[in-house]
Amino acid sequence: MSYQAPLRDMRFVLHELFDVAGHCERLNNGLDRELIDGVLEEAAAFTGNEIAPLNRNSDEEGCQLENGDVSTPKGFRSAYKQYVDNGWASMTGPIDFGGQGFPQLVSFAFHEMLMGASLSFRVYSGLTEGAVLALDKHGSAELKDAYLAKMVGGQWTGTMCLTEPQAGTDLALLRTRAEPQADGSYKVTGNKIFISGGEQDLSENIVHLVLARLPDAPAGVKGISLLLVPKFIATAEGGLGQRNALSCGAIEHKMGIKGASTCVMNFDGATGWLIGEANQGLACMFTMMNDARFQVGLQGLGLGEAAFQGALRYARERLQSRGLNGAVAPQQAADPIIVHPDVRRMLLTQKTLVEGSRMLAAYTARQLDLEHGAGEATERKAAAKRAALLIPIVKAFFTDMGQEVSSHAVQVYGGHGFIREWGMEQLMRDSRITQLYEGTNGIQALDLIRRKLLGDGGSELNALIDEFAALADRSASQPALAELAGVVSARLQQWRELAAQVITLSQADAEEIGATSVDFLQYSAYVLLAGFWLQAAATAQQALDAGTGEAAFYQAKLHSAAFYLRRVLPRASGHREALLGGAACLMAMPEESFAF
Ligand SMILES: Cc1cc2nc3c(=O)[nH]c(=O)nc-3n(C[C@H](O)[C@H](O)[C@H](O)COP(=O)(O)OP(=O)(O)OC[C@H]3O[C@@H](n4cnc5c(N)ncnc54)[C@H](O)[C@@H]3O)c2cc1C
Repeated sequence: MSYQAPLRDMRFVLHELFDVAGHCERLNNGLDRELIDGVLEEAAAFTGNEIAPLNRNSDEEGCQLENGDVSTPKGFRSAYKQYVDNGWASMTGPIDFGGQGFPQLVSFAFHEMLMGASLSFRVYSGLTEGAVLALDKHGSAELKDAYLAKMVGGQWTGTMCLTEPQAGTDLALLRTRAEPQADGSYKVTGNKIFISGGEQDLSENIVHLVLARLPDAPAGVKGISLLLVPKFIATAEGGLGQRNALSCGAIEHKMGIKGASTCVMNFDGATGWLIGEANQGLACMFTMMNDARFQVGLQGLGLGEAAFQGALRYARERLQSRGLNGAVAPQQAADPIIVHPDVRRMLLTQKTLVEGSRMLAAYTARQLDLEHGAGEATERKAAAKRAALLIPIVKAFFTDMGQEVSSHAVQVYGGHGFIREWGMEQLMRDSRITQLYEGTNGIQALDLIRRKLLGDGGSELNALIDEFAALADRSASQPALAELAGVVSARLQQWRELAAQVITLSQADAEEIGATSVDFLQYSAYVLLAGFWLQAAATAQQALDAGTGEAAFYQAKLHSAAFYLRRVLPRASGHREALLGGAACLMAMPEESFAF
């Protein structure tokens, strides 16, 4: 299966919708349009030519564990070397430690490409970037000097060690211990499972960020600390020193992302150092988790794009049956299946979910940039609130979308979709994990209601709705957009009312939080995407009116917007009705009655 970065659509989103050059000017990072386009083209060549060809074999070969060493699939080592040597690893890293400080509004496009080309390959570098963020923000000067430059450069990678056999979602249950030593270090002892990239043969060193309990720690989540525990302890000069007392005990055999090692990690009195304050580990880890959740959302987006590309290619080539109104390609034995309304339904559902999600990804990336880089404190705070509201939606909706879109791809291929050689079933298997890790999608939905909606009584959500309502008002007077604008306006008003209902229900009965959460998240995402499709339609109409060329591209945006609003957005009504069905019907039946 081949993958080609969707450069034209990315340029539409970055330049025409989000004015990325103006954004970079405001952030004063020295990037202009020409440079950004050059980077995107290089990124497309790297991901399409070097990474995508490794994906199929990585699924066949998987990772191997021998005498505690893990080998990654053929080709990963040399591709990772190129990734480091060509500066891709350091793209987003802090400039003080050798990074290039690219904003998310540019880097998200590269990361989407990487995920689409090979999710397994991306897993190794993705968590390193999150570890860099956490260390840069919370680590001591000594730790940063010893570890950060090599991690930013990609010569050393990072992991995130939270999960233990008895502690998955509920980190209050974790047992790994950290005993203070006279020299200020800690001895870390415990057993972590499911650690992505915990051991591998790509980087010289692996820097584990480990959640553990200090001896006098309070019970529960208030007693968790974050420690840096490297495979090789860095020398004062930042080189490789002594081997630490930790090892990979096993690697998991799993449904997808088989080229990414998932390790049982044993820490046997390994030397580590605190990152941030004692017992503040979860707060420090959240720096990393917000980034990681955005990145996992992008995994759904990248895989969705890859699945759409595969389905579209096949639908144009596969000849079966005639169109319902007669032959479309009479010179051939049958018509290509893209003439059939049901195949078009699947393709357009894929296209509009993927492209709609790309717009939301860019919007969120922009907020993340402003959160860290805006000139005014008030602007940074406002962007942080907006990003916090959107991240659970991005993580859960995009990854559910990736699973749906890859399932449509299997369906478009018919029986051939179920066969390994076409690659669609791999995308479906690879995308399944994205709904589970970094907090399951159910937990993202709880976060959306509990912390984001109830946290401020819905004020941030209403501010977001206001933004799109203003767009709908502006568009209503344009004949070509009036119908779309009307549909979006009505949904925004309904969203506002639904949010108020969810708050009232949740305040009256805490079980309503969990009963409404997934449907409310889905409802919110479908309406948000409708807002972005209206924005895309308005921009496309402007380009058509101005006669700037590429009429087919802009017409396709208008067709897509019309399809989304008529055929996908109605799903929101189902989610609304379901969540208003309430908690009682979920909770009333006694547990013993689930089966007889
Ligand atoms: C391939 C792979 C890679 C991974 N990589 C890493 C990694 O690098 N680092 C790391 O630390 N971990 C990693 N994980 C672990 C992953 O993050 C956890 O599996 C995930 O957080 C869920 O935990 P669990 O599997 O223990 O499920 P559980 O927590 O047991 O959850 C089981 C089910 O119950 C639901 N549930 C649990 N609590 C609640 C609640 N309060 N309300 C509603 N529903 C609830 C969940 O949504 C889920 O559906 C990885 C896992 C896999 C499979």
